[in-house]
Amino acid sequence: MKRTEIKDALQSDNFEVEMKVMGWVRTKRSSKNVAFIALNDGSTIHNLQLVIDLEKIPEENLANVHTGSALSASGRLVPSAGSGQRVELAVEHLELLGEANPDEYPLQPKKHSLEFLREKAHLRFRTNTFSAITRVRHAMIFAIHKFFNDKGYFNIHTPIITASDAEGAGEMFQVTTLDLNNLPLNDDKTVDFKQDFFGRAANLTVSGQLEAELAALALSKVYTFGPTFRAENSNTSRHLAEFWMIEPEVAFFDINDDMDLAEEMLKYLISYALEHCADDLAFLAKRLEEEEKNKKAEEKSMELISKLRFVLEQPFERITYSQAIEILKNSNHNKKGKFSYPIEKWGADLQSEHERYLVEKHFKRPVILTDYPKEIKAFYMKQNDDGLTVRAMDVLFPGIGEIIGGSQREERYDKLLQRMNEMNIPQETMWWYLETRKFGTVPHAGFGLGFERLMLFVTGMGNIRDVIPFPRTPQNCEF
Ligand code: ATP
Ligand code: MN
Repeated sequence: MKRTEIKDALQSDNFEVEMKVMGWVRTKRSSKNVAFIALNDGSTIHNLQLVIDLEKIPEENLANVHTGSALSASGRLVPSAGSGQRVELAVEHLELLGEANPDEYPLQPKKHSLEFLREKAHLRFRTNTFSAITRVRHAMIFAIHKFFNDKGYFNIHTPIITASDAEGAGEMFQVTTLDLNNLPLNDDKTVDFKQDFFGRAANLTVSGQLEAELAALALSKVYTFGPTFRAENSNTSRHLAEFWMIEPEVAFFDINDDMDLAEEMLKYLISYALEHCADDLAFLAKRLEEEEKNKKAEEKSMELISKLRFVLEQPFERITYSQAIEILKNSNHNKKGKFSYPIEKWGADLQSEHERYLVEKHFKRPVILTDYPKEIKAFYMKQNDDGLTVRAMDVLFPGIGEIIGGSQREERYDKLLQRMNEMNIPQETMWWYLETRKFGTVPHAGFGLGFERLMLFVTGMGNIRDVIPFPRTPQNCEF
């Protein structure tokens, strides 16, 4: 007999034929004549209730069935007498596929802390929370490709190993095959990378943007969706050392087109989740409500589903960095010294506390900030005529701060070269990037959406370590 997935079994009205299900036991309880097993196979958040008549199947057969064991069960689907479910399976045959000794199996049918589960990342997929997150994550990956495909974008793979540093920030992981205990040295004692695998120093990429630009300047509309790596030692709830980024890059786009695309995409993804992940989001909403029970009213976040709907309905506020600085500088929050980094003057880099103040307290909706000081932004951003600012745009979200960072790119060869010189970006390794401004250059723009930041928002989870299966953070690379 072929296996029926629990998702399908739960929706079936076919009470005549026998069916077989397989999965992992969430709970087992038995009374004198009957035993109940909640079985889950990951196809849905919901369990199938197995009903076992102990006169037909002796209780000894169930002795090794515990939370976490794997079972195959066949029988007939029947309308459920209990209130928790519509249908249940009246079991005729039961086979134990894999035991889980209750004295050793770490997951018990009770609430475990997220911190505890991070230490059990190999098993946490088996909890309701992580299976829900994993399904939502899949739906979002699919929706991202669908969004771009439907709009005629081409997905490109940009390299993961690179010799260029897109941000000039120097927070990269080095890739080498040199023997670290016996490094080849130049006369001046620096490492001789000519002897390394690529004949030069190489790193893991921090962004696929520069290569995506090359493709956009031929195919017009492209996007990347790949892993990116940052060796920044920031132990926050919003930073990973390895995360996934979606980077559209579009020829003939200016910064306004770029903002329109970012807003449209975020709204598309949120409404996709609401439409296709209703059961998982309902579960995650309840989880969040539980978690926030003990918080003070003013610290509570909005109910998850309402928050997602709310963002869909609001046009994002679009203001310049300079306007934002005025708002922040004059805010009571700033005057009362409530920011860890007080805002004193134009030019300050915004911290996530400032971003969240603008979104959560001031505008009460997502905000797109544009025209940042050139000193705090990357070399490739298009310079404004004021000589002070660049055509950057960051999208700020409630509970998160920056979710997207993007810009119109500098398409003028001279301006780009001048900025690279000012910022000490080595031209030798970037000659190919400069050539695109020499041959058929056009205005273009793009942005980077941090996939796990989107996941934080959609799932209502508070820590980025819990929305990626195997988080990479400083001192943490176990699984
Ligand atoms: P932040 O200021 O929050 O550190 P950033 O300015 O360094 O972010 P960008 O270089 O603009 O970020 O990257 C684009 C997007 O990638 C960000 O808007 C964010 O969503 C995401 N992102 C950046 N760094 C990380 C990280 N370490 N972990 C997860 N997502 C990240
Ligand atoms: Mn940024």
